[in-house]
Amino acid sequence: MRVTVRGAGVAGLACAIELAERGARVELLERAAALAGAGCSWFAGGMLAPWCELESSDPLIARLGEEGLGWWRQRFAATAQRGTLVVAHGRDTGELRQFGRRTEHFEILGAEAIAALEPDLAGRFSTALYFASEGHLDPRAALGALHARALELGVGVRFGDDAAAAPAAGRELLDCTGLAARGTLADLRGVRGEMLLVRAPDVSLSRPVRVLHPRVPVYVVPRGAGVYMVGATMIESDAGQRISARSLLELLSAAYALHPAFGEAEVLETGVGVRAAFPDNLPRIRRVGGAHYVNGLYRHGFLLAPALARRAALALLEGRHFAEVMDEDPRQRRLA
Ligand SMILES: Cc1cc2nc3c(=O)[nH]c(=O)nc-3n(C[C@H](O)[C@H](O)[C@H](O)COP(=O)(O)OP(=O)(O)OC[C@H]3O[C@@H](n4cnc5c(N)ncnc54)[C@H](O)[C@@H]3O)c2cc1C
Repeated sequence: MRVTVRGAGVAGLACAIELAERGARVELLERAAALAGAGCSWFAGGMLAPWCELESSDPLIARLGEEGLGWWRQRFAATAQRGTLVVAHGRDTGELRQFGRRTEHFEILGAEAIAALEPDLAGRFSTALYFASEGHLDPRAALGALHARALELGVGVRFGDDAAAAPAAGRELLDCTGLAARGTLADLRGVRGEMLLVRAPDVSLSRPVRVLHPRVPVYVVPRGAGVYMVGATMIESDAGQRISARSLLELLSAAYALHPAFGEAEVLETGVGVRAAFPDNLPRIRRVGGAHYVNGLYRHGFLLAPALARRAALALLEGRHFAEVMDEDPRQRRLA
């Protein structure tokens, strides 16, 4: 089978790999000139957090996301599995209790255990939730590794190609263009996410830390060499313009409240990505006209891309109806 995949974000790259690994002849067309800054994927935090995401997501996200952890470890050796630490400042401990009620697969840590896990947080929090089986990765390095893997598998990757021409006869088309597919998938919407990259050499954290807050929950993800991603806002808007002063202030204040040494951090970059989401915030694999669409990865694209790519590849290559592929778990019918 010959397949054209449109869009080289995390979804398109994962789909191209899953197809090529099963023997399809794949071309991958990306309209941007390079991976850097091309789409939403470039600005992600890189948390692979199926259990924490239960706090605000359908259980389907955790089910699909669980599959993603192993996939990433196999294909991107730098995938870390050191868990996620969730904390709240004293006045917000109600948030921590509520988070625990809505999630699974965590243990409750006291001050000593927190200090043992993250010595830099010693004395700063009396209770935390620890999701030991969760992972994280550097999204930019991971996209680079997927690109390299695709090339190794013989995928023809072309940048600067907006895939305007219809694929040649006999080629299937798999569209993974995120929000750009809105012309066809009219129920897609944009959810703006703002983030920062900072260098804080005096802070040493080895796993993502989520700081709960009633209005401004944030997380800090270590990228190595003293660099941290601080994110992220969730704003119902598809405006892609630069970060607002208010968001910048709130993200930096939250990082500073987590550890005062963030006050001395060098701000390396501010970024904005617009997440594509369907009304129920669940992903879809859809057939429209002659093309297949993998979209609506919302705030979970790195977590979900492996599971969705596997299903899309199975459906295309085995000629099975999508609903049938999703039937592995009844809840996955909703992906059809
Ligand atoms: C601040 C922030 C933090 C996040 N943190 C996390 C996280 O910690 N964990 C997680 O799992 N997810 C996270 N996400 C969500 C994740 O980034 C997205 O779900 C994911 O990137 C969506 O990937 P995608 O491939 O569907 O879309 P995109 O990454 O947007 O890729 C679409 C690609 O299609 C290309 N394209 C568009 N039109 C065409 C065309 N006509 N022809 C060819 N190419 C085209 C675009 O240039 C783009 O490269 C975060 C998102 C944001 C914004």
